[in-house]
Formats: sequence, structure tokens, C-alpha cells
Amino acid sequence: MRIENLDTCAVRLVSTTKTEPSLIKEIVAELSDRINNGDISEEELIKYLNSDEGLMAYIARVSSPNQENTKHSGLLKYCINQSHWSVFQMCDMTLEIITSRGIAPQILRHSSFSFQEFSQRYAEVPSEGIIIYIPRRQDIKNRQNSINDLSEEDKLWFQQQQQEIWDKSFKTYKEAINRGIAKESARFILPLNTITRMYMKGSVRSWIHYINLRSSNGTQLEHQVIASKAKTIFVKQFPTISEALLWK
Ligand SMILES: Cc1cc2nc3c(=O)[nH]c(=O)nc-3n(C[C@H](O)[C@H](O)[C@H](O)COP(=O)(O)OP(=O)(O)OC[C@H]3O[C@@H](n4cnc5c(N)ncnc54)[C@H](O)[C@@H]3O)c2cc1C
Repeated sequence: MRIENLDTCAVRLVSTTKTEPSLIKEIVAELSDRINNGDISEEELIKYLNSDEGLMAYIARVSSPNQENTKHSGLLKYCINQSHWSVFQMCDMTLEIITSRGIAPQILRHSSFSFQEFSQRYAEVPSEGIIIYIPRRQDIKNRQNSINDLSEEDKLWFQQQQQEIWDKSFKTYKEAINRGIAKESARFILPLNTITRMYMKGSVRSWIHYINLRSSNGTQLEHQVIASKAKTIFVKQFPTISEALLWK
């Protein structure tokens, strides 16, 4: 995956939860009388159990005598409105994220997720490994905010500085490696806008709260862009939940 043009990140879907096929077969066999009577549609039942949203509803109905009810949009909406969050911990989603070493620590703070990140200790950083960021002016009233009204001259100056510092630091990094300095030591010379790649796995519940928090004001713009790309993927994977959250 590459970062296109002036974009500052890339996000793509790696996986979501898959229902064990033998479980579906067993449930279908257990309900065969009702399927044969025409009470339950086998096709709908399989579709229900095979989708993440259906699976979460099936599990949520553990205490219900009606667990095989394939209609689930109302239930999921009810669970969201009632903050019955544990239902949404039954399925996971993993995303691949490309960002910089400056933004990655903010993402890694989300303690309910599991991560794997590219380690600069074992593999060399590539020469094209930076993101050139467009700067914003510091908001003097709200320190969590920055404003996009800098002059083109200041923006250009800052972008050129990033490139110059990268060229110098990357050259030094390569020289350090050629001198036999370990990658884990050599990397100390690299700036915060060095690219990193990570895998982020969390429950649907965690993604709901991460996306809500990180796509709103108070989060650094570059992180908001990551959260909004994650949201686009989430909406496609979990359409009913997204509708209940008013994300669609
Ligand atoms: C604007 C901003 C400024 C920050 N500044 C700093 C700073 O200066 N220094 C610093 O060290 N850290 C800072 N942080 C990081 C912050 O303190 C948290 O560490 C970070 O947001 C991760 O949140 P979390 O621990 O809730 O993890 P998560 O993994 O996101 O959430 C933990 C669990 O809580 C659940 N959850 C979260 N929200 C809800 C909800 N509304 N309802 C129900 N369940 C919920 C999730 O589903 C998950 O199961 C900042 C964060 C923000 C957004």
C-alpha cells in the first residue's frame, strides 16, 4: 500500500471476524425440523450467521428463546441506544494503517486494541520513507487546535525544511548503517515524520469509540484523517450499526 500524492496516511481493511463453518452446519441441523416446516429460511439463517452483524445479534440473544430470529437490525440499534456495549465486543476488525512516527503514538494509546508495528530495529527505513506535512498556525486560545490560515510562503518554507532535514538525516542514517551501527541505534537520527506501518485490531465496540473520538474536534487533523478513513471502512463492513450511529 502506498500513500498517494499529498495524502498523509493510508488505511485498508485486513480482516473481520469469520464464523466457524461447522458451527453454522450444526445450527442448521439442530433447526432442521423448523426449516422443513417453513418456519425458518435456511438461506436467511446461513446469511445471518455468516455476517458479523448477524453473529453479534445471535450471540446477544444467548438468553432469548428466539436466538435463530434472523431479523437483527432493531436489536443492534436497541443495544447501541441502551449502551449495551458488550455485544459489540464479540466481533473484531483489523486495519492496516500507514502514518508517521509522530502520529503513531496517539493511535497506540488506545489500550483496548492490539497492534503490530514496523520495527526500525530489524528492517532498514526506505529512502522514500517520509510524509511531508502541511503546517497550520497554532490556535492561541485552544492549545488542542490549529488553524489552516498560514501564508503560502510559510507553508512552503516548512515543507522544504522537512525535505531538507529528511535528506540530511536519511543520509546520516545510511552512513551510520554502513559504519556498522545497529539499526536500532541508527534510527535515533530519523525525524518524527518518518513513515511507519501498523496493524490495529480491535472489537467493533472499540472501533465505534475510537472513530467517534478521533474523527472529532480536539484530535489532531492528521489523526482525524486516519479515523475518517477507518470510518469509511467500518460503514461498509457494519452498515446496520453505522445507521444506528447516524454514520450513514
Ligand atoms: C483530545 C485528546 C487529548 C489527549 N491528550 C493526551 C495527553 O496529553 N497525554 C496523554 O498521555 N494522552 C492523551 N490523550 C490520550 C487519552 O488519554 C487516551 O489514552 C486515549 O484517548 C485512549 O483512550 P482509551 O484508553 O479510552 O482507549 P480505547 O482503547 O479507545 O478505549 C478503551 C475502552 O473504553 C471503551 N470506551 C471508550 N469510550 C467509550 C464510551 N464513550 N462509552 C463506552 N465505552 C467507551 C472502548 O470501547 C474500549 O473498550 C488524549 C486524547 C485525546 C482524544
